[in-house]
Amino acid sequence: MPDFDLFVIGAGSGGVRCARIAAQNGARVAIAESRHWGGTCVNLGCVPKKLMVYASEAVEAADDARAYGWDVQLGKHDWPRFIAAKDKEIERLDGIYKSMLGKANVELFVGRARLIDANTVEIGPGPLDENAEQACDSVEDRDCHGGAPCARTD
Ligand SMILES: Cc1cc2nc3c(=O)[nH]c(=O)nc-3n(C[C@H](O)[C@H](O)[C@H](O)COP(=O)(O)OP(=O)(O)OC[C@H]3O[C@@H](n4cnc5c(N)ncnc54)[C@H](O)[C@@H]3O)c2cc1C
Repeated sequence: MPDFDLFVIGAGSGGVRCARIAAQNGARVAIAESRHWGGTCVNLGCVPKKLMVYASEAVEAADDARAYGWDVQLGKHDWPRFIAAKDKEIERLDGIYKSMLGKANVELFVGRARLIDANTVEIGPGPLDENAEQACDSVEDRDCHGGAPCARTD
């Protein structure tokens, strides 16, 4: 059973940074991701949003260019081609996040992580791996996950 100083649940912006900095400072660090490396920002939020905004601005840029004397013909927009290019870019960024963690000696677990007691994390199936199953000891737990809404009890 692997043993770590820090087990980070969720490889989003916060979790990746936390894991890398801790590992670079000598801690034995693991990180688990159930859905997509890079989290919400890379896969669902900031990055796809910006690519869509840039795509929408092309029409305005063409209008401006015409005003400066260019003979610009935009033609029809190809949505499937745009989505394929967006997905390719996101896949590239996911790979960069994964390799940055690997280079920092962070151990990667694919699957949905769950604390089963104060020092033990269980990895179960998630969208990235439907068959994931593993248990890990973590001496110093610091839970860094975000993204999933929860109700306050107080
Ligand atoms: C549409 C949209 C647009 C946005 N645009 C911007 C922007 O332009 N600029 C900006 O600064 N911010 C933007 N944000 C906000 C930004 O995405 C978040 O602030 C950021 O992603 C939060 O990072 P995080 O690490 O806390 O959580 P997340 O990035 O959500 O990461 C959490 C990760 O944990 C994983 N996870 C959760 N539970 C488990 C579990 N039990 N086991 C394993 N893995 C688990 C999830 O799969 C996820 O990958 C946007 C958000 C959205 C939704």
